[in-house]
Amino acid sequence: MTYKDPDCIFCKIAAGEIPCAKVYESESCLAFLDIAPVHAGHALVLPKAHHPTLLDLPAELGSDLMQTLAKVGRAVMEATGADGLNLMQNNFEAAGQLVHHAHFHLVPRFEDDGLRLWPQTAYDDPEEMNGLAKKIADLVK
Ligand code: AMP
Ligand code: ZN
Repeated sequence: MTYKDPDCIFCKIAAGEIPCAKVYESESCLAFLDIAPVHAGHALVLPKAHHPTLLDLPAELGSDLMQTLAKVGRAVMEATGADGLNLMQNNFEAAGQLVHHAHFHLVPRFEDDGLRLWPQTAYDDPEEMNGLAKKIADLVK
């Protein structure tokens, strides 16, 4: 059974209580256009059930979610004539998450559209990088 959070706008959209520009629906997932797009055709893909972040998603959702992302991603690219596609996903407010129902952004991209998403930095030295890789690896459960 789909868990619904009464204060969650995406739960209300999934339940049909608030309208959306729907582009695809499967048994467990829903996709609709973002109301404030980076580019027209920017779509959101989400599980219908309420899970706050990616870190809370049950593994059994994985297959339907991945298929939905690829299916909708192909359609977004074809419909908009995009040259590329970004998959974006924000978790927690510090990372820019505004709606606390896990969701994925599919953003159509165009040659020379001028968007620069990731300013990059560098590690001080390789030991810092390798040490952090080991710390993370030891914590993967
Ligand atoms: P995030 O910052 O990853 O939590 O993204 C939330 C996204 O949901 C934003 O890009 C909003 O524009 C979008 N959004 C919020 N409310 C709606 C809505 N009712 N219909 C479509 N998109 C929405
Ligand atoms: Zn929700």
